[in-house]
Amino acid sequence: MDLGPKGYKSGFVALVGRPNVGKSTLVNQLMGQKVAITSPVAQTTRNRLRAILTTPSAQFVMVDTPGIHKPHHLLGERLVKSARKAIGEVDVILLLFEASFPPGKGDAYIVKLLKEQKAPVVVVLNKWDLVQEESIELRKKEYKTFLSDSSWSISYCSAINGNGCDDLIERVEMYLPLGPKLYPSDFISDQPEKILLAELIREQILIHTKEEVPHSVAVKIDRLEEMSLLKKKSLKNECTAILATVFVERKSQKGILIGKGGSMMKKIGQSARLQMQSLINGPIYLELFVKVVPSWRSKPAKLSELGYEEN
Ligand code: GDP
Ligand code: MG
Repeated sequence: MDLGPKGYKSGFVALVGRPNVGKSTLVNQLMGQKVAITSPVAQTTRNRLRAILTTPSAQFVMVDTPGIHKPHHLLGERLVKSARKAIGEVDVILLLFEASFPPGKGDAYIVKLLKEQKAPVVVVLNKWDLVQEESIELRKKEYKTFLSDSSWSISYCSAINGNGCDDLIERVEMYLPLGPKLYPSDFISDQPEKILLAELIREQILIHTKEEVPHSVAVKIDRLEEMSLLKKKSLKNECTAILATVFVERKSQKGILIGKGGSMMKKIGQSARLQMQSLINGPIYLELFVKVVPSWRSKPAKLSELGYEEN
């Protein structure tokens, strides 16, 4: 185990906030590469993914929680439960707000929840790039007033362009305890590659199908193996073959996913392949199958098989 130099710091950092405030985008920005999937559709994040950022002075194990919201079905319940559990176990909590809006009712619920925790909270006003010049002072004041009875510090940043992110990471490091590296320096995530790859496919489905399918979609990687593109060709043409199943709840959703003459599946497959190639650093052969499993989101066995563990 690499202990790191004397004075090295390490610990767990949870990103908390309402759906769509930019938690996953911030994780990717801090990492300098894509680990968490993001999309304009709320509730994108399902797995409790830990992204690992290692710097010369500290190792940050970031827990990208699913947004906290009122659950409507079993999957929703498991997501909120796992977000709450993540909060209870960390060294620092990053509480994100969308700076383009003033604080609201749903925000007060999260603040109340976090006041009961003992870990220090760093408030992050994200999407600062969307705040009009003339509203900057007002917005700062609104959040300061909203949080006035806490001792939490406030950071301003834009996860999309990286502004303010260096300051933020410095601030978080101050709160981290002294400790050795918890993971080897070259680990970017604690999730198996299969989960990361499945998430990249799910992301492209969310992006391409918009509101029509998203929440009832799940992806499972069935096979992942190295193979020669053509046996006759040289080893240079080695590529990674991935066979995956996309689960939906209704036949109509399967229709949308496949599209006219398979056109939608083709688009999804192509863009997912590009994303995967940059994760794996090499060519990918990808085959996607679509399977209808009525109301899989309410079936405990199916949820567990797909990696949404009860915890
Ligand atoms: P999460 O649900 O909190 O994980 O939110 P995501 O990271 O998935 O982001 C939700 C949406 O907000 C996506 O469309 C992002 O591109 C967008 N977004 C995230 N951070 C920023 C930001 O700093 N500025 C702007 N303009 N958009 C952002
Ligand atoms: Mg997310």
